[in-house]
Amino acid sequence: MRDPRYDILFEPVKIGPVTARNRFFQVPHCNGMGYRDPSSQAYMRQVKAEGGWAVVCTEQVEIHPTSDIGPFIELRLWDDQDMPALAKIAEKIHEGGALAGIELAHNGLNSPNLISRETPLAPQHLPVVSWHLDPVQARAMTKSDIADLRHWHLEAVRRSLATGYDIVYVYAGHCLGGLHHFLSRRYNNRTDEYGGTLENRARLLREILEDTVEAVDGRAAVACRITIDELLGDEGINRAEIEDVIGMLGEIPDLWDFVLGSWEDDSVTSRFGPEAGQEPYARGLKQLTTKPVVGVGRFTSPDMMVHQIKSGVLDLIGAARPSIADPFLPKKIETGQLEDIRECIGCNICVSGDFTMSPIRCTQNPTMGEEFRRGWHPERIRPKRSDSHVLVVGAGPAGLEAARSLGNRGYTVSLAEATRVLGGRVERESKLPGLSAWIRVVDYRVQQIRKLDNIEVFMQSEMTVDDIMENDFDHVLLATGSHWRRDGVGRWHTHPLPIAPDAEVLTPDDLMAGVRPQGRRVAIYDDDHYYMGGVLSELLAAEGFDVTLITPAAHVSQWTIHTLEVERIRKRIIRAGVDVKTNAAVTAITGDTVTTACVFTGDESEMQADAVVLVTARLPENQLLDALQARESDWAAAGLKSVQAAGDAWAPATIAAAVWAGHRYAEELDEPADDRPVPFRREVTELSTEAGVLLPITPVESVNSR
Ligand code: ADP
Ligand code: SF4
Repeated sequence: MRDPRYDILFEPVKIGPVTARNRFFQVPHCNGMGYRDPSSQAYMRQVKAEGGWAVVCTEQVEIHPTSDIGPFIELRLWDDQDMPALAKIAEKIHEGGALAGIELAHNGLNSPNLISRETPLAPQHLPVVSWHLDPVQARAMTKSDIADLRHWHLEAVRRSLATGYDIVYVYAGHCLGGLHHFLSRRYNNRTDEYGGTLENRARLLREILEDTVEAVDGRAAVACRITIDELLGDEGINRAEIEDVIGMLGEIPDLWDFVLGSWEDDSVTSRFGPEAGQEPYARGLKQLTTKPVVGVGRFTSPDMMVHQIKSGVLDLIGAARPSIADPFLPKKIETGQLEDIRECIGCNICVSGDFTMSPIRCTQNPTMGEEFRRGWHPERIRPKRSDSHVLVVGAGPAGLEAARSLGNRGYTVSLAEATRVLGGRVERESKLPGLSAWIRVVDYRVQQIRKLDNIEVFMQSEMTVDDIMENDFDHVLLATGSHWRRDGVGRWHTHPLPIAPDAEVLTPDDLMAGVRPQGRRVAIYDDDHYYMGGVLSELLAAEGFDVTLITPAAHVSQWTIHTLEVERIRKRIIRAGVDVKTNAAVTAITGDTVTTACVFTGDESEMQADAVVLVTARLPENQLLDALQARESDWAAAGLKSVQAAGDAWAPATIAAAVWAGHRYAEELDEPADDRPVPFRREVTELSTEAGVLLPITPVESVNSR
């Protein structure tokens, strides 16, 4: 049962007129499902409520078409048409036993309004602060715009109450909520009563908070989400200012939700920031108000959570990512199952869902985003349908997850791993600079596998076709992984690069195995664009090599735009002394020369390098699959019913994709064949019965002939 040290986490907290059953608070977080997949979102939130979170919030909800942050897919409450989706989400959260929070947002300067085509509104005339640098400017709000905004917010509050929400947010955070722009010197140079002094810059926030408190009239709590430091020194909201803001407005809302800087600062990855990294910024602010305070910090350790409460930093433990990785985190702490917690690894693959406008995914929790679509649940799985014995070959993320989930279904599982260690690529990659938290993917699964008697693990057991055919397996899953290519094939070169026989060419696998270049000068050619090229540059630079990172992309580790890391990676690489050559492709490698070509002009240049590390693409380890398929006619005699590959062995991708593929295999084994063209539930926009309004048309000829 629960350790009494953690009792404090299960104390109820009064938030204005409502009471949270404990201190676990799922703060608003985006999920890439928004208005397009409302039922997916509703079921996802419900699972968290079931997992013990006292409060479960929506992501930001656009309150008006002038706050349209398309192409990102968030929720909308533009008018009554959006209410059924919002009501369904609140209903599912309530079904799970939690309070439902709604984050109302007018994004102001952050909304390019690409879908609505309305003019963005901001404190002053400025280009929009959107992720895609859209060529759109916002207009300085007039007094009548400000009155409109207050009215729209009130309408959204009315709709929030009507759709059943218990906590209504006013959003002034992350440089995303428009009230942040009014508050910040960086974005507000008005000379009227809404600009200039802090009191003036906070005026609109005060008005909207007061409007909201008056409108809810005790039927819901009012929360204010606010950036406590823009990390811009005197150019933006800083410590002195936020203390004054809370001094002025501290008693108006029922709850304060503190966030740090922009989204990149608030959701920092484990590569760049530790658990509870925001504590130094939040410390001391709670004392400025009598109202409860929630804040985040990628909290996965109950001791750290207790520390936040006992040391007076927070009243409620806020979480987005820890609640994604483990929706049952509170329940597990409550019932003393600490070793069953699936700790967030801080990789931000979840954030990439929002950034790529696709449903949220999680490296640790393969069921995330699949609760409605496929009926998956993070803690429950359907029982086995047969007494089959399943062999899983390879204990990387795909194999470990498949074995764990098959074991949970009740199958007899043999997990065979060629090496002395479990974890495959995760075990190797977690030793690279900044990636140590990734080992949690392995730790959680190994821990769970150890608890199940029906899974047997065989180490140092490299399986051959004969081993498989001679033993009594009904089904075989090959999760044998992949290896990095040594020929330069990737996105830029789809055929092998010219590489001289005496050139020293290494791959990430070599470096992870401890091999090092013989000379000092190393070129890293990154045509992969996720983290590996950047991480290896850091590794070699720290060991004293002269590193040049060459990439055909415009940025180092370009895909990490989607994990909010791209700028931090570049800064770290600059600081490490790595020379960076972007928009360039390696075209030839000889003993001591690397030829590169500008990706635009094709103009070639040469540089000296003793060795080249090729980070371009990977190839599946599929020899066993090919060999087994070649002997398909012998399967029946050997009692073998199926052979499949999953994860990198099928097609190399992210660790999250491998975990998901292993899980999918386990979910679907022995299930009736799904012959629907789309193997998951989805929601399709309902066609309107109203006709569009067509204006009378004057034919072009008659205009011309006039
Ligand atoms: P994924 O990401 O798809 O899970 P990994 O590369 O992380 O793939 O893991 C693959 C694992 O499979 C590695 O630990 C590797 O040692 C193991 N492996 C590869 N071939 C065999 C084999 N024939 N028998 C047993 N284990 C194997
Ligand atoms: Fe944590 Fe990564 Fe899962 Fe996001 S995707 S919740 S960062 S483990």
